[in-house]
Parts: sequence; C-alpha cells; structure tokens
Amino acid sequence: MRSDVRKTRGTAPIMSLNAYENAMKQFNQAVEVLGLAPNQVAMVKDPRKVIELQLPVRMDDGSIEIFQAFRVQHSIARGPAKGGVRFHQDVTVDEVKALAFWMTMKCAVVNIPFGGGKGGIVVDPSTLSLGELERLSRRFFSELALDIGENVDIPAPDVNTNPQIMAWFMDTYSMHARQHTPGIVTGKPLEVFGSRGRTQATAQGMVHTLEEAAKHLGLDLDGARVAIQGFGNAGSNSARLLAPKGARVIAISDVTGAYVNEDGIDVDKALAWVEGNGGKLTGFETSGTATKMDDPMMLLELDVDALIPAAMENQITESNAHDIRAKIIAECANGPVTPEADAILNEKGVFIIPDILCNAGGVTVSYFEWVQNKTGYYWREERVLEELHGIMRDAFRNVLAASLKHEVPMRVAAFIVAIESVTRTAELRGLYA
Ligand code: NAD
Repeated sequence: MRSDVRKTRGTAPIMSLNAYENAMKQFNQAVEVLGLAPNQVAMVKDPRKVIELQLPVRMDDGSIEIFQAFRVQHSIARGPAKGGVRFHQDVTVDEVKALAFWMTMKCAVVNIPFGGGKGGIVVDPSTLSLGELERLSRRFFSELALDIGENVDIPAPDVNTNPQIMAWFMDTYSMHARQHTPGIVTGKPLEVFGSRGRTQATAQGMVHTLEEAAKHLGLDLDGARVAIQGFGNAGSNSARLLAPKGARVIAISDVTGAYVNEDGIDVDKALAWVEGNGGKLTGFETSGTATKMDDPMMLLELDVDALIPAAMENQITESNAHDIRAKIIAECANGPVTPEADAILNEKGVFIIPDILCNAGGVTVSYFEWVQNKTGYYWREERVLEELHGIMRDAFRNVLAASLKHEVPMRVAAFIVAIESVTRTAELRGLYA
C-alpha cells in the first residue's frame, strides 16, 4: 500500500464571474432602497465564520489525496446556520460565501428560523469510486464536527451531493457524538429520518411561485412553453411537476448537452432515461423524443413562456441577456443571472422570480425535516406539501407587495424583505460581548 501524498486534486480555476461580488451588488441595491445605516449593514453583510479544510483521503490504490473544502456560516441571527454542501471541481471560497449569504436571505424571505451557511469540496465526484466518495464525505464531516450541530449549523444536499451522502454525514456525526443526532443534517433518505416530500421540495416550491407569477401576469401554465437547464434534483423534478399541469417542456439539458422538441419532450421518457443512464441525459437524442442542440447555451435563448435555470451560477450574463426571449425566469438554481444581466432583463420586462424566493422550497422542507427530527414525530406527505404551499404562496405575495410598494424588481424586493427581517432580529438581540 502506498502512503505518499499526491497532488491536490481539482484546484479551482480563477472565476471570471465572482459569485460573491455579484451577491454583494444585489445586497447593496436593496440597502440603498432601505437606506440602512453603516452599523446595520455591518451586522448583516459579511460571513461570521469561514472555515477552510484540507482533507486527506485514502484512495482505492492506497495513495492519499488532499481535497480542499470550505464551510461558511454567514449568519446565525435568525437561527442556526443552514445550507447545503456542494461537491464540484470549480468550488471556490467566494462561491461558498455567496451561497451562504443567499441562504441567510432565503431563510428570511420564507420566514423560517434559520441563518445561512454553505459548504463545498473541490472535487469532481464522478472521478471517485463509491468507497472514496464515502471516505471523503465522512472525513469532511468529522473535521467539521466541532463547528456544526443541530442548533449550530445544519448542512444539506446541493450540487452533486445526495441523500446517501447525507446519511453518511449523519452517521459520522452521531458516532462522534455518541448519540442519535438526526437533526444534524437534512435531505436524508426516508429510512434515515428524512422527510417525506424533501426530494421534490425545491422544484415544488418553484412551481408554486411560478403559478403565482403566472396568475399575476395573466398567463396560463396550461400550454405554456418551458425550457429547463439542468436535469438533476431541481431540474428533473421541475419537469416532472410541470408536465401534469399542461406545461409543454420543449427543452431540457444537463452537462452532456441540451435536447429540444418544439412539440414538447416526453418528460416520463426523459426521467426514465436518466434513471437508467447513471443520472445523465447522454444519448437522449436517440430516444426519438428530442434532438440535440449544437450549442447547449442556446436553450436559454429559446422562445418560451418560462425559462427555468436549474444548474449553476452565472448562466445568463450581459453577453446573452439581450437574446433571452422568456417572459418569466424562475431561478431554481442559485445565482444563474448576473447583476449586469439582471439590469438588461429588467429593462426588457422579463419577470424574474429570484433564487432566494424561487428555490426556497428545498430549505423549507429541510426545516420541516429538522422539526420532525427534533420532535421525533414524522409527518404525512400531504401535511408537508400543504405547509410548503402556504409558505411559498405567502412569501411570493410578500415579495410582490414589496416590489409594488418600492417600485423595484422582484429580486430587489426579496432582498428588502430579507434584509429588513435579519436586521431587525440582529438589532433586537444586540451584541453579546
Ligand atoms: P444536481 O447535482 O442534482 O443537478 C445539477 C444538474 O445540472 C445536473 O443535471 C448537471 O448535469 C447539470 N449541469 C451542471 N452544469 C451544467 C451546465 N453548464 N449546463 C447544463 N446543465 C448543467 O443539483 P441540484 O440539487 O439539482 O442543484 C441545481 C441548482 O439548484 C444549484 O444551483 C443548487 O444550488 C440549486 N438548488 C438546489 C436545491 C436542492 O434542494 N437540490 C435547493 C435550492 C437550490
């Protein structure tokens, strides 16, 4: 068995589009409308704790590799830090800081009692065996054990992490704590104390906000043309939930490419395809229900009623925003539209349901999962879905009201609602020492 330390894997590239800078631009826009004092800004703007780890992991061939990882706790004013963990080769500390900031804002928009956190490991998990993935996941959680807790910081899934990884996280923490601690992480499998309804929660929440937006704009979802970028948890469930409402999903995509059918893709076929194909759409053009687009980014520019980015940040930038033809953009992904693109889209009159509202269904059902874990009483799916619907509907209506009151786009309005809430709580709590 070799014991030499090999290269650090997956060093993140320098990102031309810095998600944290973008997040701060969004923050500043809302602060300007609210006219916050410098002390108020200082209380809510920057992350409270940024943890960087170098994780040694024994690979299958006996060598040791070091993986860089981060956990950021942006705010604990409104409750324990809450947010997912991403496994991706392009993870940077700034990306994780942006995502943690958005989590603080998101939890405040839907008024659930959490602050914001996020984590990430710089790794392409498709290059790992199952055993390596488990050892990496467990090492990450074991190193974080003193900085997280059921009432401190509660991780969850994000890009490339799934219920199995959450089960390993929960088991690792419980073994360290020498007690059963299911509330340490959400997004767990049902058999490992997860919540009914969690898998489709993000997409379900998006659908509720899309329905509210369509109602506001006088648009019928029945027959509406929809394009979805990303076909993982958020994207594939979006397609699955929109199809029965009569929406015509004309294009879908993932890392393998974009697939289009102007008459509507057979969503069941697409779901079955990824199910039997390692989670990927590769080769879907041979299924007879769609053709492959030459340039996958062109999916974003299709003539649709609703465009649902459900993949990564910075997909709509100033270079393609002018060519977007969607009437509504429902941001299932975090940060898919840059501030520069936002300005262009607002000018064009595109109605954007911002990420911190649109995709908040995931963390809302995570909150339900945590409540169930803490009480030891598990809800029926109907209760989960009904309470989710109420929270998403009320949040949309609050943000819309702020948008109309302040005459600002929905994104600025969502930040106004969130920042007002976090600032008020922080002020009432005051400074401990
Ligand atoms: P996932 O790993 O399940 O799926 C990601 C999908 O995006 C995959 O289909 C992948 O192939 C695809 N993809 C990656 N890069 C792409 C590209 N350049 N072009 C097209 N497709 C690409 O992740 P997820 O959980 O579905 O998360 C997707 C987005 O939704 C992320 O921004 C995440 O932060 C956000 N989100 C997820 C949740 C949740 O509960 N899962 C909650 C809130 C927000």
